Amino acid sequence: MEIDVLTLFPQIFTGALSESILGRALEKQLVQVNLLQIRDYTADKHRTVDDLPYGGGPGMVMKCEPLYAAWEAAKTRNPGLPARTILLSPQGAPLRQEKLEEWGRALPGNTRLILICGRYEGVDERFIEECVDEEVSLGDFVLTGGEIPALALIDGLVRLLPGVLGNQESTAGESFSSGRALLEYPHYTRPPEFHGQRVPDVLLSGDHAKIAKWREGQRLERTRQRRPDLLAHKNGELVVNPRSLW
Ligand code: SAM
Repeated sequence: MEIDVLTLFPQIFTGALSESILGRALEKQLVQVNLLQIRDYTADKHRTVDDLPYGGGPGMVMKCEPLYAAWEAAKTRNPGLPARTILLSPQGAPLRQEKLEEWGRALPGNTRLILICGRYEGVDERFIEECVDEEVSLGDFVLTGGEIPALALIDGLVRLLPGVLGNQESTAGESFSSGRALLEYPHYTRPPEFHGQRVPDVLLSGDHAKIAKWREGQRLERTRQRRPDLLAHKNGELVVNPRSLW
């Protein structure tokens, strides 16, 4: 999989992309992340990337021309592989596991992502109109830039790619995953007792059928308590909300 990132702050990415699971995935070339410094695509001696908003108001707006030149460079770097352009924006659709799974299935080898990280008040709307396929938000809050949302997207996506997680780590049954938008059951490890709290007996029983049943019950109960929006009532029973299925 290939991901191009257009940013004014490429260094924000370097630590996160060199450690742990992401670092290993890049090292094994299961994914390639290209960081493009938008400032390198300016044409003036001050390397200007922003300007005052038309109509007045606070802050600065990211200019079309450098963004467009950087975007074109990313597109033409590998013209054989179609690219999907995503703008990180608080005004986009909230990022969901469903979307990551969709990209994880569709992208490897077939297409690639170009991620645009906004700064200041945001990006000139004309660039968005012409070049952006989707706007994606990390949540209903405003950050200083799109770099942390882009990293979150890359992290969530790359861990789904074949070969990235080891045998001991699995995404099956995780919160929101694999078509059943439930939360995962609680986890415990040694010791069997900590500060007076005991691990539930069923987990020490060795009875795998019972453990599976208990975990399924916990998934539903946790989801009911914490995210009732993921569930629906059917014939007096709580079931997975069809809107959270995919
Ligand atoms: N003026 C914009 C608004 O009110 O919608 C907010 C701009 S924000 C300060 C600057 C940049 O940070 C945005 O262009 C976007 O790239 C990024 N950003 C901020 N919050 C975000 C979020 N929740 N999800 C994704 N990107 C975000």
